Amino acid sequence: MLDHIIPEVAGGLGVWENLCVTCHSCNEFKGAQMDTADPLTGVRVALFHPRRQRWREHCRWSADGGTLVGLTPVGRATIVAL
Ligand SMILES: [Zn+2]
Repeated sequence: MLDHIIPEVAGGLGVWENLCVTCHSCNEFKGAQMDTADPLTGVRVALFHPRRQRWREHCRWSADGGTLVGLTPVGRATIVAL
């Protein structure tokens, strides 16, 4: 399904630059969120932007492949949010 990176309620448009493919669960969890707290520092940061950032710079899989690990405030916050 397509998700608005900047939610429609926040003025995000239905244009290609503001849309990304997501699964239903991530879409539901994200909702209208644009930022959330980094669980390590408590500082609010913007969620991962799939069109402007590279996933591998912010997250990686655990050694057993069962858990996503946030490498940056953006990565940690996005994992918590979604
Ligand atoms: Zn998902």
